[in-house]
Amino acid sequence: MKVTAPHMGKLDLIFKDIFARTGIDYVMPPRTSAKTMQLGLRYSPEFACLPLKVTIGNFIEAIEAGADTLLMAGGVGPCRFGYYAEIQKCVLQGAGYEFNMLVLEPPAAGWKLFIDTLRVLAPGKSIYQIWQIIKISFRKARVMDGLEKYALKYRAYEVHRGDTTKAHKKALEIMEPAITDREITAASEKAFAVMEAVEKDMDKSVVKVGIVGEFYILLEPFVNFDIEEYLGHMGVSLERSVYLTDWISPSPKNQIMGITDEEIAQAAKPYLNHFVGGEGLPSVGHAIIYAKEGFDGVIQLFPFTCMPDTIAKSILPQISRDFDIPVISFVIDEQTGKAGILTRLEAFIDLLASRKKHRELVGV
Ligand code: SF4
Repeated sequence: MKVTAPHMGKLDLIFKDIFARTGIDYVMPPRTSAKTMQLGLRYSPEFACLPLKVTIGNFIEAIEAGADTLLMAGGVGPCRFGYYAEIQKCVLQGAGYEFNMLVLEPPAAGWKLFIDTLRVLAPGKSIYQIWQIIKISFRKARVMDGLEKYALKYRAYEVHRGDTTKAHKKALEIMEPAITDREITAASEKAFAVMEAVEKDMDKSVVKVGIVGEFYILLEPFVNFDIEEYLGHMGVSLERSVYLTDWISPSPKNQIMGITDEEIAQAAKPYLNHFVGGEGLPSVGHAIIYAKEGFDGVIQLFPFTCMPDTIAKSILPQISRDFDIPVISFVIDEQTGKAGILTRLEAFIDLLASRKKHRELVGV
């Protein structure tokens, strides 16, 4: 069995680690690129949301690289994500590809389904052994998310442009071979030391921006035009509302973000008091939390036709007025041009910087 899964941020690093432990061959699709997008667009329904199209492209490239089993996460609604695996299967079979499809349904859809799929992915292993593998792999993945969070926050302060990106790459390389708990602890200390060693000017005037929006667009740099790195180089210190391990984990604690699901829901409550799928509710809650924490602005990113974040978008202007915080929303699809996004971003950041300066001058 040669298993593959679509890209989404650093998800490939987690799969690589887990499958090395379970003894399954993992075929990493080529990095998402314009070619991936073209392949996905060729076969996907035109009205589907962008992540479905791009992930179909990932699957095609992985099948062409030798994968015979496609692994996809399931979902329990109410957004379209829960239907992705079924649609991907129909589309790819219709295009003539041969494969097995494995859907890892969330435990909320029933533990049996979840465990049955895990047994296929870890042949010969007991449930206890599978749990141990997931636990240790997840611990490592959390360290990697912590490194990403650090890079987002501190890239803006680097003295030499590009040093944070280089250090982050090195830190991930340090983490990759760590297998045991002890090795993960040692690698984590070393990796954070590499990040901390980047020369920084902490007196630099930077603007603080929170990014909210749909999880796939936030996590996959190809589809968001790698705006986090771009903004970091512009002197913007970032916090993001979604981290991969928080998103995957069923725990409401969100260890990387440091804010529980309950706190996010409470913050959003005056504006949106129930789950609407995807990141609709968290986008609202986080925007309010960022405003209360004194951030200078909020950026929302989501795919065209994404129902949950379209709901959030309709609420964010009110939050912007009530909390006196500038908010900008970007709707992304396959027609979106990088230059257009970056130009609007630059104008937004200029506005935030001059607003901040003015407020400091008048003592607000
Ligand atoms: S959150 Fe939005 S873009 Fe993502 S799968 Fe759901 S509807 Fe599609």
